[in-house]
Amino acid sequence: MSKPTVFISGANGFIAQHIIKQLLDSKTYKVVGSVRSAAKAEKLESDFGNHPDLSLVTVEDLSKLDAFDSVFKEHGASFDYIFHTASPVVFTITDFQNEMITPAVNGTKNIFEATVKYAPNVKKFVQTSSSAALRNPEASTDPSVNVTEKSWNTLGLEESTKDYIKAYFYSKGTAEKISWELHEKLGAKFELTVINPVYVFGPQAFDSSVSNHLNFSCEVINSIVHSKFNTPLSNSVKGNFIDVRDVARAHVEALTSDKLSGQRLILSENIFSSELIANIINEKFPQLNGKIAKPSPISNEEISKHLANIDNHVTKGLLSFEFRDLTTIVVDTVSQILNVEAKK
Ligand code: NAP
Repeated sequence: MSKPTVFISGANGFIAQHIIKQLLDSKTYKVVGSVRSAAKAEKLESDFGNHPDLSLVTVEDLSKLDAFDSVFKEHGASFDYIFHTASPVVFTITDFQNEMITPAVNGTKNIFEATVKYAPNVKKFVQTSSSAALRNPEASTDPSVNVTEKSWNTLGLEESTKDYIKAYFYSKGTAEKISWELHEKLGAKFELTVINPVYVFGPQAFDSSVSNHLNFSCEVINSIVHSKFNTPLSNSVKGNFIDVRDVARAHVEALTSDKLSGQRLILSENIFSSELIANIINEKFPQLNGKIAKPSPISNEEISKHLANIDNHVTKGLLSFEFRDLTTIVVDTVSQILNVEAKK
């Protein structure tokens, strides 16, 4: 029997590469991924050692309302599962409507409609949303707020075009709502599962992706590895974390687990702060002592005074595995960065 085929948008993304790795390692699936250019396809194919079960197609711009149509018209009949991970996660932009909101919203609308129209054999559509869809930015730091799998942000379009954080939160909430609404309105025959991760940390799927500046969430740890002693952390943040390998595993589990159909899964292990990460790095990598930000006493109780409570016990009860802890994530991430830098 031939292997079922999974289509994944944004195949060269940080999270998507881990999903593809797990799919191919399982030897159970074939993967068709979309990237924005031939050069990106070439790099990804080479990272995966020209794997015979991986093929790549080009979808240049999510903003175009027919972005996925030609790919789905040509290959849709062979797709059994869809992962929609592609969405802008860049905060160096100025046109929040056109560079963040429109691609997130149009991309989701189009891939969902293309799946209904041209991919009759799809059994499950898994969308990568975000904890940003679950509450407004200001609520993220309010300890009286309780966030669950039923929570939504309440941002409107107008306020969200003026601020990059609001634009991201709005883009994720609106794109997710579109999938739930279209699922019902179009009477889709496939099941829908949505994944809502918090800050996603962890090693890159391939050493070749380790560079001086990493993607938004990974830069939190990378910037501490490259911080200066006795200098305040330039990128000091607090929030909830999850390991990218656990995010990928939840996506893969969602393909075949009936329990996960129709669910929103909040992927969050615990809370972190930049200071906590700096403490772990100082403890586990003595060669960096005296070179990077020095340890500072901070407890989880202190951090939680500045964060909304994320209650994801429902999600944890649905998944078959436990999430990695912060020390494991930091050690694996920093080890990869130091190994790559030592080879330069
Ligand atoms: P990433 O590495 O930046 O990957 C994003 C992917 O989307 C890339 O393949 C990117 O292509 C593609 N993309 C972005 N804008 C596009 C556009 N206008 N047209 C076509 N493709 C576009 O980010 P990631 O961290 O893996 O995030 C993947 C998903 O997880 C996103 O939906 C994000 O919102 C969600 N998420 C991430 C985190 C996190 O902490 N990282 C947390 C919660 C949710 P290029 O590489 O060509 O730009």
